[in-house]
Amino acid sequence: MRFSGNPLDRASDQRTDPTWLASRLRAGLVLPFWQNRPLVVAERAGFQAWRDDWNGRLCVFLGLDGERGLFAVDIAGEDEPQIGSGAFAEMRASAFVLPARDTAIAGQAKALIDWHRRHGFCANCGAGTQVQDGGYRRLCPACGAEHFPRTDPVVIMLPVLDEHCLIGRNARFVNGLYSAFAGFVEPGESMEDAVRRELAEEANVQIGAVRYHASQPWPFPSSLMLGCYADALSRDFRIDGTEIVDARWLSKNEARRRLAGTIEDEMTMPASIAIAHHLIRDWANG
Ligand SMILES: [Zn+2]
Repeated sequence: MRFSGNPLDRASDQRTDPTWLASRLRAGLVLPFWQNRPLVVAERAGFQAWRDDWNGRLCVFLGLDGERGLFAVDIAGEDEPQIGSGAFAEMRASAFVLPARDTAIAGQAKALIDWHRRHGFCANCGAGTQVQDGGYRRLCPACGAEHFPRTDPVVIMLPVLDEHCLIGRNARFVNGLYSAFAGFVEPGESMEDAVRRELAEEANVQIGAVRYHASQPWPFPSSLMLGCYADALSRDFRIDGTEIVDARWLSKNEARRRLAGTIEDEMTMPASIAIAHHLIRDWANG
């Protein structure tokens, strides 16, 4: 699955040592980002040797690729920088183009850089904070508070009953798209609690067992998608009409045909980079 299967050794014991990080940076490779977009060169992540004009820019350690350190740097500026033959491509579009390995590494970098861009100041006292541990911690010099990059759990679930699954149209979706239901896990909730609450709120469908299927890091900006199946107890549902504007039951046969693109009408299915696509496909083929 896209953004999953990151192969790097994150070297969490060693990345706390600034001397070790500096030596790895000199001998390593750096993926430039501009406005949260990775550099893409010939349909690969555009890793470069470190350049002196990047001194002072936010630089995060991604991990070891064998012995070689991989990093990412955030390049500022209004105008897109020109680096060789590469171009800075939007992360979601890049996920369709890059190899799976590069997508996972670029997604990790994007989530980290995005977090640093928005968390320069201490949430406890307001002072400017300092990057530590190659980017996996920020430390407040004024009050000593530590801040860690966020990962926000999101449940994404497909209600299923016999040979049918329930899919919905979110008001924010592009025209024609139907998908699984989703929502953030709230404080004090288990994954299963969140699945039940979201389905009660959005579709008012009665749920029995909740079964975990697979997860996916989703760097928009920092989610971890927890994919589940929810056993519906009946076909009755009532959409909320605000967040979800339509829903319908889909048979396994129709799901397979729609994912294969053999039905030509207004309705579209989630793209293959999204875990919703895999939830529907794995169920339909099961
Ligand atoms: Zn502070």
